This record gives sequence, C-alpha cells and structure tokens, in this order.
Amino acid sequence: MIIEDGVGRDDELHHEVITMNTNDTTSTNSTNSATQTFETRNGPITITGYGASSEVGRSAFIIEDSKRKILVEGGLKIMPGDELTLAPDGLKQRIHELNAAVLSHAHVDHSGYLPALYENGYFGKLYMTTPTLDIVQVLWADHLKIEGSRHWSPAGMERAIDNTVTMKYHTKKEIVEGVTIEFFNAGHILGSGMILIDWDGFLILFTGDINDNQTPLFEGFEIPDVEVDVLISESTNGCRHVTPREEVNTDFIQEIKNTLDKGHKVIIPCFALGRSQELLTVLTKHIKDYPIYVDGMIRTMNALTEKYLNPNWIDEPLLNRMREEGIFSPFRYENVIEISPENFDRTHDFRRYLGQLDEPVIILTTSGMMEPSPLHSHLRFSARKPETLIAVVGYQAEGTKGRAILEGQRKITLSVDWNREEEVEIKARVMRFHYSGHTSADGIKDLIDAVKPKQIYFIHGGVEEQDDLRQKLSNGIVPVSLEIGKTEILAQ
Ligand SMILES: [Zn+2]
Ligand SMILES: [Zn+2]
Repeated sequence: MIIEDGVGRDDELHHEVITMNTNDTTSTNSTNSATQTFETRNGPITITGYGASSEVGRSAFIIEDSKRKILVEGGLKIMPGDELTLAPDGLKQRIHELNAAVLSHAHVDHSGYLPALYENGYFGKLYMTTPTLDIVQVLWADHLKIEGSRHWSPAGMERAIDNTVTMKYHTKKEIVEGVTIEFFNAGHILGSGMILIDWDGFLILFTGDINDNQTPLFEGFEIPDVEVDVLISESTNGCRHVTPREEVNTDFIQEIKNTLDKGHKVIIPCFALGRSQELLTVLTKHIKDYPIYVDGMIRTMNALTEKYLNPNWIDEPLLNRMREEGIFSPFRYENVIEISPENFDRTHDFRRYLGQLDEPVIILTTSGMMEPSPLHSHLRFSARKPETLIAVVGYQAEGTKGRAILEGQRKITLSVDWNREEEVEIKARVMRFHYSGHTSADGIKDLIDAVKPKQIYFIHGGVEEQDDLRQKLSNGIVPVSLEIGKTEILAQ
C-alpha cells in the first residue's frame, strides 16, 4: 500500500463504513399497504434494492416498469479493517437490462461500482452533478490503486467518465422517454443532490445522503417545493441526537486554542472530502497565529472544491465571508501550508522533521479512520507526547486503527518510512468531536411535512435506526424498510 502523499488507503473509501446487521428481519414491514394506485402506462412501477437496504453501504436501486429500468446509485460496501469491498448483491445480472443510471453524490458507497456497468453490458448514460464527476474521478482512481480491478478495470472507468452527463441543480432532464430527473442541493458534500424523479407524472423523491445541519459550506439540505407520491429517504442517524454545528465547532476551536497556547501540537485525522473543507473553513476563520499544515488527498479535494465556490454550488454564508475578506478561497491563508512536493523537496523528511519539532502547529491530514496514510508519519513522534491533542472528527469503524485509538488502545502499529511497521505508544490526548454528515430525525420530519409523500421507504440505515424512525415519524403512513432483493410496488 502506498502511503506517500495521500494516495494510500484514503478515507472517502471508508466514509460511512457502518457495518450493520443486514440479516435482521425484525423490522415491521408491510408491503401491501404501501402500494399506490396511479394510472401507470406500462404496468406497476417498482423499486428493488441491491444494497443500502437495511444496511449502510453499496447503495444500488432499480426503479422500473415493464418498459423502462433505471439504476439509482451503484456503490461499494466498505468493510472493516483489511476486508475487501462488497459489490451490490444481485445487480450484476441485471446490468444489461438498464436504460439509464443516476448518481446522487460521489461517496464510494454510492458511486464505487458504477464503472462495472460499462464492463457488463450497459451502453446508456450516467447522470450526476458537475462537481460529482470531478470528485468520482479522483475516488475511482484511488480505488484502483487500493483494490485493483476486482470490480472493474481502468477501461470501465474511462467509459463511465465518457458516458457521464453532468447537470446543475434545478434543471430537468429526460433520461428515458417519460422519465425526467432534477437535482436539489442535499447539503451533504460538494455536488450532492436529492433526486426528484418524474415518472410519467408519478413523483418520486430520492434523498441520497442529506444533511440538515448548517455547515460552513451549506445551510442544510434544500427542500423541493413540490408534493410527491413517494419519498425514499436515508436513515443513517435514526433518532440519534445530532449536535448542532455551532456547539461542536465552539468546543473544537476552544480545545485547539488551549492546546496551541500551551505550546503543543494538534493532529486532526480527517476524511479528504467534505469534513476537511468544512473544518479548514472553520480553522482559518478562528486560528490566525499558528501554522495549519494540510497533508494527503485533502489538498486535491481543496483544489477541486475551489472550482465550485460560487452560488450554483455553495451557500451564501461562506460566499459572504469570502466577499468581506476579499479572498478567493477559505483554504489559502498565510498560515495554511500544504505538505506537497511543490513546497518541500522531500515531503517524507518534512513530516519526520515536523514530528520531532516541539512547536504548536495544527496538522490536518488523511486518513479519517487513522489507517495507513500520511497520518502515520505524523503520529510516529507526536503521539508519544501526552501534551499532543488528537482530535477525532469523524466516524471510526470497527476494525480500524482509529477505533482502536479512540477506545483507548495504547500500543498501535503504524506504517512509517515506506511501509515499515513500527509499534508506537500513544500517549496523546484523544478527544472526540461529534460531527455528522447526515440528517437528524427532525430533518426528515421537516422534509416529510413539506413534500407530503403518500408513502415513505427507508434506505441507507440499520434496522434499529429505521425502527426508531418509523416510530417517531409514523403519522398515518408507516414507512417501509427496503430489503435486499425484495421488490416493492410503488404504484400500480
Ligand atoms: Zn455520502
Ligand atoms: Zn452514503
């Protein structure tokens, strides 16, 4: 595994690696009550899940009638530790039947399988937002480096890119005869979209991953001004309390300032896309007097995000700040230093130097779950010092080094100096800050109140989370949990 400059096990690939029980069928499903009567042109309209159905990961759904078959998402499931990714279950056999494919956002659990379409008999188009195409190209290339051609090869990737049709928010496009789609800002990551599907007039709103939190780049997900027949909603957080950003940010900045003022180091292991840009935007606002080093794939994702810092993709608060401060990017201040070959002849040596240096600095680096990456070079010396702060800002999946460190394991084997393993005693303070990229239950409730669906389906969540939500949200309608391979009739 390559660990130089962020091309190693990076963490978009680990995003949302929430391993959940997929076999538990205790949820209270009722298929029949869900079907709506609608004058369908080509028989019943149905949905079948091939992943992210009573689990998180490998999102893939086919919505179809007798004439038209549309794939929504095609992701991989990231497994704990060194286990290999899983493809959607049963999708491959149906690829040749598909007429169109749509992607909500770039995360690998939604996009990682899509190149395989073009190596298994699919000749149609792939629809996504403009930033999503930029991001998936980086993530797909990274996936190839890590897992090789297990699911698809570089040729499939190139064909997927060639066949992609990009869209802005709020524009409609007919993707097969009688079926149009439109994206709405999902507030989750750059370019993320809820998808409104108009199927001969039958309206299906597919949330993808949505976030109702006000974050520096987004003011929470956008609610389409429309009433729909069916809502297909993510359910990742269930009814878990989601701490408002203001609260988390205040604690985060306070703790970092205290550590720096005492002369110590802060290390922030972070997902390259999304959380990194969010936190860097917060850090550059509040921390002006100390260096902020940025390492790993975060650099690529910062540059990519900069292309889209305009009202088409980013919400007003950040754009206002940029106008007021007269800056073109919230990631480039005098105290922000990228650990890149352009800045340092030997990045690896610089990491070692920085590790041995006793100075108050912030290091924002991949990987978010503390897997082999530039982070390990930074931890090698700094984590041995009790004064160092390791700020945990994302989910740490079972089986990852991040989970072990968070749970108090003190002896950790790191990959340093070109994959040489070294056991290091972690004496640093490890603190967790509760950031979430997903909506609260109240967010889903607001969405339901606004779009007034006649039926609701849950995807992208565990059985327990969905049961909790079902209890909280049931108001005449009982939301149905999709199960892998089980077809639900949306309309007939
Ligand atoms: Zn996501
Ligand atoms: Zn997801």
